[in-house]
Amino acid sequence: MEGAAGRSARSAVVVGGGVGGLSTAIRLKLSGQFDRVRILEKNDRLGGRVKTLKLESCTSSSTYRFDTGPSLLLFPEEYMRTFEELGCELPEMKPVGNVGYRCFFNRRGPRRPGQDTLDLLLEDDEMAAQLESVEEGAGEAYSRMIRAARTALEVGNGAFIDRNFATLAEFVNPLRFLPLLPRLVDGGILNPLSLLRPLDGWLRGYFRDPRIRALFTFQTLYVGLSPYTAPSAFSLLAATELTDGVYYPAGGFGEVALALEARARQVGVEVELAEEVEAVTTSSRGWVSGVRTKGGRGHDASVVVVNADLPWAQRNIAGLGEKGKTEVRGGGA
Ligand SMILES: Cc1cc2nc3c(=O)[nH]c(=O)nc-3n(C[C@H](O)[C@H](O)[C@H](O)COP(=O)(O)OP(=O)(O)OC[C@H]3O[C@@H](n4cnc5c(N)ncnc54)[C@H](O)[C@@H]3O)c2cc1C
Repeated sequence: MEGAAGRSARSAVVVGGGVGGLSTAIRLKLSGQFDRVRILEKNDRLGGRVKTLKLESCTSSSTYRFDTGPSLLLFPEEYMRTFEELGCELPEMKPVGNVGYRCFFNRRGPRRPGQDTLDLLLEDDEMAAQLESVEEGAGEAYSRMIRAARTALEVGNGAFIDRNFATLAEFVNPLRFLPLLPRLVDGGILNPLSLLRPLDGWLRGYFRDPRIRALFTFQTLYVGLSPYTAPSAFSLLAATELTDGVYYPAGGFGEVALALEARARQVGVEVELAEEVEAVTTSSRGWVSGVRTKGGRGHDASVVVVNADLPWAQRNIAGLGEKGKTEVRGGGA
């Protein structure tokens, strides 16, 4: 949200010090357009959902580490690009190996031939053999499916993930797909509108067995969507796991947040902890003028970026989306 000062704005407030807020604050500071960039964070630590707990064993000298939020590092190239742009050193990313993870299926339902577990196997031949043991023809269907899903990843990143949609019409506009047509056809997606079909339904075109469909659809839960309603473009999540691999940061995910925090402080981003923002304030003419915290403090700013959860922010922070003077953007982190 931008105030009346517009391009000459010199002070920015970022609400929320998760990895999204930290990255945004660093970018704002590096842009050179702001004398002051402040992060206001309601908790007493930065990092948001990213947190690594370290617990001492009571019986030995070992220390155990638990990631309480994210643990799978996906889209490794995005991390590399972002950290490079921020001038920040990325913690070492380690691949998890051939088995990304194992899915366990409910044994109380009707018995089906094949396994009670399926592994996310990153090696194509092993994956095909595993699927074939569950459903005849599934090995061959896998190679077609992963080709289409990889295509969805490549075109979907630009067309869905990196974009904001203000209206449903904008989201389903077929004109958006025209320039992408050749790449889609090459990837076996003959009808681009099929990317808008629910993911589970789309996968029925490849696999009958619900366990196999579950293996390739449950990733939509990462972004809070149901596989029965999420567009099949979200097959890109399984595609990145299966084709780019699954990684984890050495030392735990907390290292990612710590690296961003160190860079933010290095470039001069100011951080205030235990500062819960309760409202975005506006001037009498309706322009953004800053924020007000729960304790009643006012923070002037000509630009306010809210990186708290979007639905919460829309409901609870007054003034969002008013008269075109504020802008709401949201999606994933
Ligand atoms: C259990 C779990 C597992 C996950 N696993 C993965 C995974 O394996 N891989 C992956 O890539 N992603 C995973 N995610 C998602 C990932 O954690 C998030 O996408 C990412 O951390 C979001 O970062 P963010 O900075 O946008 O938001 P957040 O981390 O939510 O940060 C928002 C910050 O805003 C603060 N805030 C909120 N309201 C206010 C207010 N009014 N005033 C001031 N501050 C405020 C909050 O305290 C918080 O610090 C997982 C999430 C969870 C919960």
